[in-house]
Amino acid sequence: VTSPSSCVFCRIVAGELPAERVAETERTLAFRDLAPQAPTHVLVVPKAHLADVGALADADAELLAALMADAVAVARAEQLDGGYRLVLNTGADAGQTVFHAHVHVLGGQPLGRLG
Ligand code: 5GP
Ligand code: ZN
Repeated sequence: VTSPSSCVFCRIVAGELPAERVAETERTLAFRDLAPQAPTHVLVVPKAHLADVGALADADAELLAALMADAVAVARAEQLDGGYRLVLNTGADAGQTVFHAHVHVLGGQPLGRLG
């Protein structure tokens, strides 16, 4: 498992940067987004450094499945009963800014249509 000292999410996983943690498993960590875009905005990341969901799918499809299941568990724990959105921004056109794979869990208000 590589943990580049320059990667902000690796540093959060390592405990080198503070974050409001909401859930943790052996392979994933969930914490609140620094700049929430909805009443509930949690990021769920693999502890292993993988740049995006493509790299994650290639490296370990089982970990990708666990990440998505953990994101669903966060949505349930946050009681997003009205609905929620899981977002994986991937690459420049999607506006990915942190190149450590992460799932956004967004909810707590109507989110507006996508697609
Ligand atoms: P992206 O655009 O790459 O999908 O989303 C990256 C997200 O990470 C953004 O929503 C941004 O607010 C969040 N973020 C960036 N740096 C930090 C940080 O140091 N701590 C936390 N909790 N969130 C961060
Ligand atoms: Zn990383």
